[in-house]
Amino acid sequence: MIYKAPRGTHDIFGVNAAKMSLLEQVARVIFRKRGFEEIRTPIFEDAALFMRSIGQVTDIVEKEMYVFEDKKGRKLALRPEATASLARAFIENRLGISMPAGKFFYIGEMFRYERPQAGRYRQFHQIGGEFFGVSSPAADAEIILLAQDLLYSVEVNEISAHINSLGCKNCRPALREALVKYLDSGHGLCGDCLRRLKRNPLRVLDCKIDSHKFTEIPQMSDYLCSECKCSFDLLQSLLESAGCNYIVDNRLVRGLDYYTKTVFEIRQDTAGSREALAAGGRYDNLVEDIGGQSTPAVGFALGSERVLAAAQKAKFFISFQESEKIYIALADSELFSEAFSFAVKIVKNGLRGNKNISVFGPLEDKNLTNQLKFADKIKACTAVIFAKTEFEKGKVLVKNMKDKTQTEISINEL
Ligand SMILES: [Zn+2]
Ligand SMILES: [Zn+2]
Repeated sequence: MIYKAPRGTHDIFGVNAAKMSLLEQVARVIFRKRGFEEIRTPIFEDAALFMRSIGQVTDIVEKEMYVFEDKKGRKLALRPEATASLARAFIENRLGISMPAGKFFYIGEMFRYERPQAGRYRQFHQIGGEFFGVSSPAADAEIILLAQDLLYSVEVNEISAHINSLGCKNCRPALREALVKYLDSGHGLCGDCLRRLKRNPLRVLDCKIDSHKFTEIPQMSDYLCSECKCSFDLLQSLLESAGCNYIVDNRLVRGLDYYTKTVFEIRQDTAGSREALAAGGRYDNLVEDIGGQSTPAVGFALGSERVLAAAQKAKFFISFQESEKIYIALADSELFSEAFSFAVKIVKNGLRGNKNISVFGPLEDKNLTNQLKFADKIKACTAVIFAKTEFEKGKVLVKNMKDKTQTEISINEL
């Protein structure tokens, strides 16, 4: 029996694992600069949480969620995204009181049963931030700029923020009615859309089969109430004053039920790429809808795999600094414990002032030639060789593995 990773999943190792951690490291620094604190929620939750928050008539809930029962018959789901989890954690842990800044970030795996294709996985990684408790569009602007900063920091520079407003409880019904009227007028919708039309007409605009048919969709801005319109105008002027490159995009709806007012996607400007690198929006009703006190909120998430693929083309990872690999070799096996303690020492203190090192060895029971062959195999830059004659003088042999030159150096100098 040969086992393989489940369809749609993959192992991340070597340089790709290093890049993934580097992206996460960069993200942590940027979040902390803006006062966001890390939160880690379970990767599974009560399935009803996602159904209630994301919405029943969405691709995520209808088709893509991993739902299972545990041994006690509880209906659980692997998280398809983290906003609902964070809202649940915000309520359950009374974070509005203990962490009143209301800013949280997360980094972790998400799960969606989608058709696997290049760069799209059933287990994938997201980095995201949520800002609870502020209804001002200044919070929306901060979230959009933060998402952009993250992309800029890995030198994904050719990006634009596409923004739209979906309105609030007061103005969305009129918008919805106008939209249903338009969509239902002789477009020959697919079966899914006929069903969506009644329960979630905004989703019809996202349909892969039908979306190209809609050329003159009602302008959402015509239906916004004065409060929503004010917010959207202010958001735009804030983005402008921050020098943010944004586009008002009437077709942008995002496929989740909980959004209110601002929604946005950050896309690469490269021709033909409609794929969002990061996306998010405001969700002023979600916390209340799942049992908390009325709390406005706005957030975003970016897909780590997609961002890494975009950064791959950028200069960022070219400058990615690999550590100096050092192999500790033994010419005489009786020096094993001395060599071993030397390895422990340089792991802690570095070698000749360089702390960015990876240390290998010493290993027992190999002759020196085999040890140096192994050092070559792992692409070590330097071998430090413990040999009896030199060691008695307080010295070791330091071999440059590239040009194979060798010098005697006093152990105290290393
Ligand atoms: Zn409104
Ligand atoms: Zn359709």
